Amino acid sequence: MSNKHFETEAIRTQLERSHFQEHSTPLYLTSSFVFEDSEEMRATFMEEKERDIYSRYSNPNTSEFVQKVVKMEEAEDGFAFATGMAAVFSTFAALLKSGDHIVSARSVFGSTHSLFINYFPKWNINTSYFDINRPEEIEELIQPSTKILYAESPTNPGVDIIDLELLGAIAKKHNLLLVIDNCFASPYVQQPIKFGADLVIHSATKLMDGQGRVLGGVVVGKSSLVREIYLFSRNTGPALSPFNAWVLSKSLETLAVRVEKHCENALKLAEFLENHPKILKVKYPFLKSHPQFQVAKKQMKLGGNVIAVEVKGGLLAGEQFLNSIKMCSLSPNLGDTRTIVTHPASTTHSKLSSEEQLAAGITPGLVRISVGLEHISDIIEDINQALSK
Ligand SMILES: *Cc1c(COP(=O)(O)O)cnc(C)c1O
Repeated sequence: MSNKHFETEAIRTQLERSHFQEHSTPLYLTSSFVFEDSEEMRATFMEEKERDIYSRYSNPNTSEFVQKVVKMEEAEDGFAFATGMAAVFSTFAALLKSGDHIVSARSVFGSTHSLFINYFPKWNINTSYFDINRPEEIEELIQPSTKILYAESPTNPGVDIIDLELLGAIAKKHNLLLVIDNCFASPYVQQPIKFGADLVIHSATKLMDGQGRVLGGVVVGKSSLVREIYLFSRNTGPALSPFNAWVLSKSLETLAVRVEKHCENALKLAEFLENHPKILKVKYPFLKSHPQFQVAKKQMKLGGNVIAVEVKGGLLAGEQFLNSIKMCSLSPNLGDTRTIVTHPASTTHSKLSSEEQLAAGITPGLVRISVGLEHISDIIEDINQALSK
């Protein structure tokens, strides 16, 4: 069957109907599946026959969710996880061995940074960091033992952009696997496989669920690599629960319309803040003032829903701004229907020294805004009244 458009696949990719002829996919809340006889069981375990066996390996609801993401990212295959971090960890753990080396952008999600710095070295897997704004550093860091080139774009919380096409070319030249965490963009806005990524990771907790209800993660990409990740996960057990998969598969049906509106609201708020007297700097991929505006336009369909702003007055002003917010939520999540503001220097990144914060692009007055789906006038009004305090 030929692929249909993104929105159609998101809605029409469904399991076969049961004898009830249900219209909406039911929830298969079952830990295991039964077999006709010992021969069927043998053939299934030998992988001569494809069937669900046990929900740690696969389940109809997780398969439906994965198939949708595979189509959205134009990938070959995928596997779903309980959280985004389970997806990140399992990808590295399945594909690397002691002595292997990773080259990654320094500005990665906090827990991913912690894996690179605090945990992988215990298994003799080390990481070299490059500055996201200096991709010319990458080739100098590559060693004979380098296996994976890793990045996020846009980054958290600085909303920096890296040229995915350039990363794809470097990975190809040096025979590395290019792995991209595409969570901030969502597959509707950006499809890294088109630029040479071998694997794409998502925290489904964010825009994919989009309503702040469940945690989930997913990896999609080349079949041979997904196969390794599947075998690792089948034995170690980070699988997504059927219930969360059912919620996430429903959420994907509306991903396109939600993300369109998120991005429309975010651009309007970014434009408003760019002219605000209390704001030193606004970073949003689809503002002409973004240093990587041209790259963002090349690889992203829309600008995403996250804005980074630098409030005049540093740490104190950043804290005061947050304390003056009335409607928006103070919460660490993002990609929710509700607009969320966070001040990384005093919260998510407060454990880093001020030098480490600056190296990761976190200035004292930096505020991250995940723009939601409330009416844009109400979002602007709340942010504006908090800034005028
Ligand atoms: C949230 C997030 C993760 C981790 O996902 P969880 O579902 O919270 O485990 C990984 N990468 C990025 C970019 C994220 O925003």
